[in-house]
Amino acid sequence: MRAIAYTEAEQYAVAELEDRPLSGTEVRVENLAVGLCGTDLHLHQGHNYPAYPLTPGHEIIARVIETGPEVDTVSVGKLVAVDNVVYCMDCVRCKKGEFNFCERRRSMGTKLPGGFAEHAVAPAEKCYPIGDLPLEAAVLTEPTACALHGLHMLQVPIGARVLITGAGPSGLILAQLLQHSGAASVTVAAPTAIKLDLALRRGADAIVQVDRHDFTAAAPEIAAHAPGGFDVVVDATGVPNVLEGLIPLTAPGGTLMVYGMAGPQDRISLAPFEIFRRQLRIVGSFAQTFDFGRAIDFLAAGKVTAEGMITHRFGLEQYRQALDTLADPACVKAVIEPNGPVLDR
Ligand SMILES: [Zn+2]
Ligand SMILES: [Zn+2]
Repeated sequence: MRAIAYTEAEQYAVAELEDRPLSGTEVRVENLAVGLCGTDLHLHQGHNYPAYPLTPGHEIIARVIETGPEVDTVSVGKLVAVDNVVYCMDCVRCKKGEFNFCERRRSMGTKLPGGFAEHAVAPAEKCYPIGDLPLEAAVLTEPTACALHGLHMLQVPIGARVLITGAGPSGLILAQLLQHSGAASVTVAAPTAIKLDLALRRGADAIVQVDRHDFTAAAPEIAAHAPGGFDVVVDATGVPNVLEGLIPLTAPGGTLMVYGMAGPQDRISLAPFEIFRRQLRIVGSFAQTFDFGRAIDFLAAGKVTAEGMITHRFGLEQYRQALDTLADPACVKAVIEPNGPVLDR
């Protein structure tokens, strides 16, 4: 089967790889639609602790084509969303039910072979049937699951005035989920007009165009949407300069969530007095744990919609082009179709 195969950072080929045998509890899937996201670009550059040789791709929608002898939960032919994260279930964290901190946590597409290949192997228990959910919507399952984990971390107070920075897929999904989670208003601030326009149609009550490099210039315009400050602020950009600018916009007693992924070397400057005096809460949100089922429910109910979000589709051979597209402001969500076109054009 053909797969994107990295031997080291930035070094990959579309290679012919052997299908490996299945264990009793695994399934083999044919990858149909696999979302590409910023994490894949970080991986391309060698960040995020990849294990080589590596086939990336962690947002996997696939068809089951073979099952191990002990599998009785999914059958051949089923369309599934594959939860990419595998826990050891045996370490001190797993035994406390704190799976996200599993000492041997591994993820398909980072440490295990992922979805940018014709086939992948996954534990059967990680396959969530998508029913008749269209592939265009299903391909948002993993990012929606991560956003739901963010909501668990946020504990949104009823009637909260919410600010989200970033209007990529994560920002757009978070805006939709927050509208169903007790927010009184959702304001989205981002640089790109077409994404802001999409945000307005996908859950935002107000939008503000900002320059990421000069974020504070737009602060008065953003602040006007929540006099006294935003109760909940979510940064989905991972840009340090933006995070710094969000502290003054957070209301006393409010919560700032670090959702976007920054580089490991990035730093921000904070005034501890602000956090102390105004009792600010700063929380992180990393990936997801067991949120796939809920994500599929939200997508199936149409409360999170993919409409207008999938802007680019590529085959495996066009992987380089796909990575380059991530930097294009016109790209909202790019999807790899490893076995040929399956998504609506
Ligand atoms: Zn992703
Ligand atoms: Zn563990």
